[in-house]
Amino acid sequence: MSSHAWLSKKLEDGRIACEACNQHCKLDEGEYGICGIRKVENGELQLLTYGLAAAVNVDPVEKKPMFHFLPGSSVFSFGTVGCNFSCKFCQNADISQYPKEHHHEIVGHPLSPERAVSKALEYGCKSIAYTYNEPVVFFEYTYDTAKLAHEAGLKNIYVTSGYETHKAIDTIAPYLDGMNIDIKGYSQSFYKDICGGSLKPVLDTIEYAHKKGIWIETTTLLIPGYNDSDEEIRAIAQFQADLDPAMPWHISAFHPMYKMMDVHSTPPQTLRRAYDIGKDVGLKYVYVGNIDDEARESTYCPGCDALVIDRHGHIGQYVTNHLINKNSCPSCGYKLHGVWQ
Ligand code: SF4
Repeated sequence: MSSHAWLSKKLEDGRIACEACNQHCKLDEGEYGICGIRKVENGELQLLTYGLAAAVNVDPVEKKPMFHFLPGSSVFSFGTVGCNFSCKFCQNADISQYPKEHHHEIVGHPLSPERAVSKALEYGCKSIAYTYNEPVVFFEYTYDTAKLAHEAGLKNIYVTSGYETHKAIDTIAPYLDGMNIDIKGYSQSFYKDICGGSLKPVLDTIEYAHKKGIWIETTTLLIPGYNDSDEEIRAIAQFQADLDPAMPWHISAFHPMYKMMDVHSTPPQTLRRAYDIGKDVGLKYVYVGNIDDEARESTYCPGCDALVIDRHGHIGQYVTNHLINKNSCPSCGYKLHGVWQ
């Protein structure tokens, strides 16, 4: 299934410039973008995965991870094949890298925007997440779905590497309520050699989307020996504290994956060290993930330190929200930051 990838423009030299992400592909007839799912056919950029979902699930919103976004609710989650990055530690490489590793083959099950919304409602979800692979590469599919979702009273979440162009953000912003954006590391060499991208556009996206008023949480997967030094962790935390100390930061444990099977799992003490650094630079909400550490997965009031959202069990399994009046601490009345209704 394919559809016109309208977030693109024709250049004077006849090529088509894709305007979805900061890879800035400029393509001749018959060429594919770096993501492997946008291709020029008959003089027009096509999205080859429009209406074709490669993974679909109903998840707790905490699994995205989004901890300050309708806590305890379910989110209808889907993604397609293809990605603009090529992270060597990708947890979903079987879909994200599929077209690049299978001679441009496109796979997926039909899921129209209308059906995604009706399924989300049927399952009692409060939102739809565009996730598993990078959403901006199937931008037009997310846009059409997000618009319908809003009309049906559902919210929308991008789980993303943060490589959206300003134009992509401007276009989707009226329908996009939340983003979880990876800060995969804080060095250009890590982004270039391990992920196939650049650091600066990601930081720019976080700033830009935040300025637009979209609720943002960030995630950093700490990989032993690659991005887990005190200096790098502190640099990430400091960037975020300077931008908005109320932006939640999820620090997550790496486990051997894809092209990094020879790297050992992140020790729990590394996550605890990062947690302490995040708190030390002034972040109000820091969480650890992918390990068993319930104390550091719960939310504490920045005003009085009371436990206000208790999370235990598997991620999203037991979520007890003690906030009153949607967002207020029952002990001191502090208004917590997030999307609560
Ligand atoms: S979305 Fe795909 S085609 Fe468009 S710029 Fe990014 S990698 Fe290139």
